[in-house]
Amino acid sequence: MAVDSILSSPLGPPACEKDAKALQFIEEMTRNADSVQEHVLAEILTRNAETEYLKGFNLDGAADRETFKSKVPIVTYEDLQPLIQRIANGDRSPILSSHPVSEFLTSSGTSAGERKLMPTIKEELDRRQLLYSLLMPVMNLYVKGLDKGKGLYFLFIKSETKTPGGLLARPVLTSYYKSDHFKTRPYDPYNVYTSPNEAILCPDSFQSMYTQMLCGLYQREQVLRVGAVFASGLLRAIRFLQLNWQQLTDDIRTGSLNPKVTDKAIRECMTRIVRPDPELADFIAKECSTEHWEGIITRIWPNTKYLDVIVTGAMAQYIPTLDYYSGGLPKACTMYASSECYFGLNLNPMCRPSEVSYTIMPNMAYFEFLPHEPKSTGPTRGSTPRLVDLADVEIGKEYELVITTYAGLCRYRVGDILRVTGFHNLAPQFQFVRRKNVLLSIDSDKTDEAELQAAMENASKLLSKFNTSVVEYTSYADTKTIPGHYVIYWELLTKDSSNSPSNQVLDQCCLAMEESLNSVYRQCRVADNSIGPLEIRVVRNGTFEELMDYAISRGASINQYKVPRCVSFTPIMELLDSRVVSTHFSPSLPQWSPERRR
Ligand code: AMP
Repeated sequence: MAVDSILSSPLGPPACEKDAKALQFIEEMTRNADSVQEHVLAEILTRNAETEYLKGFNLDGAADRETFKSKVPIVTYEDLQPLIQRIANGDRSPILSSHPVSEFLTSSGTSAGERKLMPTIKEELDRRQLLYSLLMPVMNLYVKGLDKGKGLYFLFIKSETKTPGGLLARPVLTSYYKSDHFKTRPYDPYNVYTSPNEAILCPDSFQSMYTQMLCGLYQREQVLRVGAVFASGLLRAIRFLQLNWQQLTDDIRTGSLNPKVTDKAIRECMTRIVRPDPELADFIAKECSTEHWEGIITRIWPNTKYLDVIVTGAMAQYIPTLDYYSGGLPKACTMYASSECYFGLNLNPMCRPSEVSYTIMPNMAYFEFLPHEPKSTGPTRGSTPRLVDLADVEIGKEYELVITTYAGLCRYRVGDILRVTGFHNLAPQFQFVRRKNVLLSIDSDKTDEAELQAAMENASKLLSKFNTSVVEYTSYADTKTIPGHYVIYWELLTKDSSNSPSNQVLDQCCLAMEESLNSVYRQCRVADNSIGPLEIRVVRNGTFEELMDYAISRGASINQYKVPRCVSFTPIMELLDSRVVSTHFSPSLPQWSPERRR
């Protein structure tokens, strides 16, 4: 039903009445971005006026921007950590929020090696749900007929823990998938998934993935879009198919379900889906048994119109591999969100990845923007640099995102650097530039320079009894393998060549580095299998000097030259790789357990 007549939208003719309302809402929010923001701040300050945190700044009931900006400092997670810890320990008094903290969302950002805990309140689920509800109405403007088929989405929950005070701590998506908002969502012909809830909600990642893949294969003709949250997740699914297609096709041929899938709820719901289909099994076996997997996604799911995965930010490194497996299908980056707050959506989701801009929805939180000057370290607590409001940012400029949320984060630095690319009505649109201080990232892990340095130091202790030291090092996120893995280049100085470290010792160095990396990295390695074993490539003596010569030949100043702690530029990689004398991998998994909670 074309419904231009129902409520037409400047974004385009909506596909149905529900879409018309959603598009209308986007119009209203973006036309009134500044007044919505003013209202959001007033609402947050009024309702949280009696919190311990806000009372400390003597706002005296003021809820206006000026007072807020002059009295409340800009903070980082570390500033709030003692308060957050009290909440985690069971203090139920209104510390940050007047509404009770319902749970903690565990961010992939870390503090002192552990996941950050973001307090949230019940009603935030409604806000997240609202943002989700805007995505398909926008997509329907660009891709027609999505109500004629299904989405094959690989969605997973992760393990959850309890804080000492008994509150749940889990990733935001786990919280969302387990909520009634998701589990009992009303039927929407434009948003039907091939994966049953039972598969998505199974905590065992093998059983969950196996079932989701099996359902996707059975319904291959109906699949119109293939997705995961991040690009790395979709590639993991492809790798899973590579490793498990024989078992999957056996199941399809005979209409049975792999006995490794033991989850009762899955087994029960799959009785309605599995059936013997030898023809389908033969087809999939034929496609998967060839050596070349180029275009495998469109060969198996021939009606796929686009991939729904985030390929902005750190995920951009996966674009070539996704293109290889999908024959260059469009990659839709639909939204920009975090554990702290969901921010906004892409109003032109079929654009090229390099052109993706997210429109921040002004009703989600109060947003401020710290002009980003790459060399400055930024403000410290107590100082009050001039932050720019959402409606006042300037096209072409870069800012760090600072948020004030209903759950009680006030002027909190998210750590994302964004560039303004334009406006939709009066709401700015932002390109995601990068996350501050992230050196290496494969999946949801984020490793900064200090963490890498500490890991290096720990590992190199194993070398001291061989009179050997690491003179220089750098790193590289190798995403050519699936899963990707960290590569660390080492140049060693061995004082006594008759007692140099053995291969076994260097393998142990890989593991020692992994043991020192943060808990998100170790979880990806151990529980999610989304990062492969860390690799050390020992390069011959003098390699880092050659690296410096190369940088200087390209214009770097000799005085200011610093060894880059992470590299990705092809000529530098080629230089390093051509000097490798030995390679070493972690021989086992590092320690990780979901219970580790301070
Ligand atoms: P988390 O705290 O684990 O939920 O991670 C949130 C972070 O992931 C954000 O602050 C961004 O750095 C990154 N992120 C989320 N969505 C996007 C996106 N669409 N493009 C690039 N980076 C994103």
